Amino acid sequence: MPKERVLIVGGGVAGIAAALRIAEAGIAPIILETRNKLGGRATSFEDPRTGHVLDNCQHITLGCCTNYLDLLSRMGAGDLITWHEEIHWIERGGRTSVMKPSPIAGAPAHYGGSFAHMKFLTAHEKVSIARAMFRIMRADRSRYTDITFETYLAGSNNAPKCAPAIAKFWEPIVVSACNISVSKVAASCAMHVIQEGFLASRQASRMGVPSVPLAQLYAGAVDAIQRTGGEVRLSTGVERIDNGVVRMTSGVELCSDKIICALPFERALQVVDDELQMGDPRFEMMKRITHSPILGVHLHFDRPILSAPQATLVGMGTQWIFAKDAPSEAGGGQLIHAVVSGADEWMTLDEQQIVNRVMDDLRICLDGVDDAELISARGVKEKRATIAPTPECESNRPAVIGEHASSLVLGGDYVDTGWPSTMEGAARSGYMAAAAVLGEALDSFVIPPLMPEYGVRVLGGGSLKRQAELAKK
Ligand SMILES: Cc1cc2nc3c(=O)[nH]c(=O)nc-3n(C[C@H](O)[C@H](O)[C@H](O)COP(=O)(O)OP(=O)(O)OC[C@H]3O[C@@H](n4cnc5c(N)ncnc54)[C@H](O)[C@@H]3O)c2cc1C
Repeated sequence: MPKERVLIVGGGVAGIAAALRIAEAGIAPIILETRNKLGGRATSFEDPRTGHVLDNCQHITLGCCTNYLDLLSRMGAGDLITWHEEIHWIERGGRTSVMKPSPIAGAPAHYGGSFAHMKFLTAHEKVSIARAMFRIMRADRSRYTDITFETYLAGSNNAPKCAPAIAKFWEPIVVSACNISVSKVAASCAMHVIQEGFLASRQASRMGVPSVPLAQLYAGAVDAIQRTGGEVRLSTGVERIDNGVVRMTSGVELCSDKIICALPFERALQVVDDELQMGDPRFEMMKRITHSPILGVHLHFDRPILSAPQATLVGMGTQWIFAKDAPSEAGGGQLIHAVVSGADEWMTLDEQQIVNRVMDDLRICLDGVDDAELISARGVKEKRATIAPTPECESNRPAVIGEHASSLVLGGDYVDTGWPSTMEGAARSGYMAAAAVLGEALDSFVIPPLMPEYGVRVLGGGSLKRQAELAKK
């Protein structure tokens, strides 16, 4: 059988990232993707009830996600992100606090002024948060892989006093970034997001929200890959990956000595040949990884109920809400997208129960919800949204390449890239997988992190100092 080009199984963010870098290096990749579009878990669908195109869930990025943002630029989608610098916190009764960077104070004090005015935190809670922030800034997070973030916080504060600050402040930030509660997340994972996405610089902490449906964001990937000589085969399921051979569900086989498996880990465990798995300890590690769910709820109101573009609801089950104008062809009004991360306890509820709970939270926090007409509602449960970044799962994330030269190259958000299981993690894994099949050093395509601002370079400890070193490269 003839040897073919680089075969990439799976066309999510990781597969796209690998394909683009390989194609740019002059070697044509073939993406084999079972769905009829690229983008994987970051996707949109047409709601049969209304005909509206809906994202499975609001996906956000941060300024510090250098690889994901690089990937968007390579796909020609870099300007399809709207950036937000302010985060709105809305309490029961509607009182709102706004966290925004100061126009004059540099990082790590850029949020200091607005933080001091956050109305939902007591002075005690602010002190406990500021102390923990300072300790996190000085820390080497690689030393905290085997404890939870809750345990870490208890070590830097008087534990009973820090409980309200956890519920009101840390939980919404950590659960939305890591998709699991403060009580379960590996401290290293939460600290990573806080160090790189919150403390390091003003630019790093900007929140990016796609201005188009996710499917449109990734639509340009097909063209970008084909332009550089690659091939995208959609609606092409793969049923077996063996040594040098990929067999599709149609029975057709393709051969190559360069294969990237960019499937979700649970699919990789089903598709990769048993013998290949037995010789490769990474697959035993993957069996110990578990998932964490996310719930997205789309609500269409006949009039605006939220004046800010996004807000976190303090102490509510509904963690974040995002507002967009509804298109005129949909009758106008406002689209509210509610997000619940780490949503285990919501998974057994039916759609009506979910909508009722979200509506109750909105009524508690926002004026005018009862005056508005709810035109349509749609809940989307994603049980396998991301890996659960507990200490156990984090320690079992496999490497992109195994110990044998012939081992299968893995890509995907679950792979050990040093980043949480996010679109940034997936993009990094794709760049690393591309380097692996091209025989380059694994980090040769990885985009360095942003340079921490001066104050952080002076005051920051192990991890942020290392970030500054990497940013210089
Ligand atoms: C509801 C939800 C909300 C999220 N929110 C955010 C967020 O706000 N920010 C963020 O950064 N991340 C977020 N994520 C995580 C992010 O979507 C993922 O980390 C990322 O998209 C994973 O990309 P991937 O390429 O690793 O995997 P996938 O996207 O899972 O790609 C794998 C691909 O393989 C394909 N495939 C599967 N089986 C086969 C087969 N047998 N043959 C061929 N192809 C196959 C799949 O169809 C898929 O396209 C969210 C995820 C979900 C589900």
